[in-house]
Amino acid sequence: MAIGPRAFFYRLRSWFHRRELDVWYDPAYRLPLSGIEQLGLEPRRADFVAFWLRESRAVVGSAMRAPRRVSYSDLARVHTPGLLESLGRPETLAHVFSVDPSDVQVDEVMATVRLACGATIEAARETVRTRRPALNLLGGFHHAGPASAGGNCPVNDIAVAIAALRSEGFVGRVVVLDLDAHPPDGLALCLLDDTSRWIGSLSGSDWGRMEGVDDVILPEGTGDGQYLHALAALIGRMPRPQLAFVIAGGDVLAGDRFGRLGLSLEGARLRDLMVAAELEGVPSVWLPGGGYHRDSWRVLAGTGMALATGSLEPIPRNYDPLAERFADISESLTLEQLGQSGEFTLDDLEESLGLGPRRRRLLLGFYTASGMEHALYRYGIFDQLQRLGYGHFRVAFDTAGLGERVRLFGEAQGAEHLLVELILEKRRVAAHDVLYVHWLSLRNPLARFSELRPRLPGQDVPGLGLAREAGEMLALMALRLGLTGVVYRPAHYHTAFPARHYFSFVDHDRQGRFEALMRDLAGVPLVEATAALDEGCVQMNGQPYVWEADEMAFWLRESTAEPGEVAAERERVKFTLVPRPAAKAAT
Ligand SMILES: [Zn+2]
Repeated sequence: MAIGPRAFFYRLRSWFHRRELDVWYDPAYRLPLSGIEQLGLEPRRADFVAFWLRESRAVVGSAMRAPRRVSYSDLARVHTPGLLESLGRPETLAHVFSVDPSDVQVDEVMATVRLACGATIEAARETVRTRRPALNLLGGFHHAGPASAGGNCPVNDIAVAIAALRSEGFVGRVVVLDLDAHPPDGLALCLLDDTSRWIGSLSGSDWGRMEGVDDVILPEGTGDGQYLHALAALIGRMPRPQLAFVIAGGDVLAGDRFGRLGLSLEGARLRDLMVAAELEGVPSVWLPGGGYHRDSWRVLAGTGMALATGSLEPIPRNYDPLAERFADISESLTLEQLGQSGEFTLDDLEESLGLGPRRRRLLLGFYTASGMEHALYRYGIFDQLQRLGYGHFRVAFDTAGLGERVRLFGEAQGAEHLLVELILEKRRVAAHDVLYVHWLSLRNPLARFSELRPRLPGQDVPGLGLAREAGEMLALMALRLGLTGVVYRPAHYHTAFPARHYFSFVDHDRQGRFEALMRDLAGVPLVEATAALDEGCVQMNGQPYVWEADEMAFWLRESTAEPGEVAAERERVKFTLVPRPAAKAAT
């Protein structure tokens, strides 16, 4: 090829203007699996992207399309009765998504999968009709074969969509450009008998030969330049199709847990722009495929921007779609909905005079229990909990030792369960009034611990997978109460680690040691790292180190920390893992 990918891009950029793009999305795209996030998958990816595309006005609201669930007769064109039957069992879905069967509510998980698959079909029909590109925010399940499910792919949405169109008389050539970091093993099997198909794949893993696939395997850590050259060559061999499916994989990013191609966000965007330019005028369905990195959503949002605006402009580094969305919801909640009306009642009078029973009607002097229930509903928490198998929610307040306690109960399997327990206090820390979180427990009593999801210190049942939502709600609570931050004391390494992007230790030296610990234990699974700290198997500069449960803060205003203070301590200390003391010999 005579010109480099960048020149190729700039030459083609002039072709782009803001164009129409149809986007398929449903809030139920979030997989209702409370343990999935621990496996590296961001279940909120589609939510983040839909929110960003609307907020940035890359896509107008009317272009957002709500999918319908695929029918079993559509699925049966591709998949065997045996496979489809097996998807009714929690064990099968648990295996596909690498979670414990106790975490699977079959109907809810299948609702997510069927909505995504239905959307891929509708997107294909629509793009053939309009010739506008179509983006489905969940799909590209390329590992599912006719009789086999696996690798997060219960069914093959692309094969099912092609079969649906074929059954409706579409005879044109179909190409699938698979730019996920893994090869399309299941898809190749599904399309074996389709003589008008071409599959091209650019991946970073060699899984052996696949019949009917132009399969390019790139070395580990390929990077943008080499990747885009290989892509240009692959595109050069692609026949001109009447319908294209593009799996714009999110797992191409450097640092992805399972992908090894090592692209930057800009590289991924250039990838999409190159392909979009090549497919100009060709009906195309774009799908996200995998993505196991904190920034995977930015790849998919970038695909949307590439298609809708042709822009290379990055998404602002500090943009957090969850924080933005929750802040919007918070703004729309009125004081009357959340807390007291301001009227002083006879009960209040009796209580203030010490005549009536002491009640805890207002949390932190502001929130009523029903106000809290309303907020949980508006933030979508009840929807998520419902999909995990709970209903009939109830919030209760009381006082408990250190502060004020909030408990959320929900019913499942004929019993009421404690789902959330929270102990809060307004307190002064480092000369600031903060919301002090003495205790936060998010509990999913229907789920069980397993090898895939081991028990962490301090847990009695697995978590709900809603820690980020809880964190945002606490920050917004602090904001509403006029406080400057949220503070808690992480009892273990594993309770500090997930908060690392938002919280920092109030003490700068302590933060330095925390950062050094993360640096030196990188690559050690969190469960093992936290256990090693609890069991005295970590040394700092050669001396035994005990986890320091100091205060961590999320400041709502600018942090006052000097980067140098943290860095000095970080560089001073070095952590090492030492073997456990030998267990007593069995007798
Ligand atoms: Zn993949």
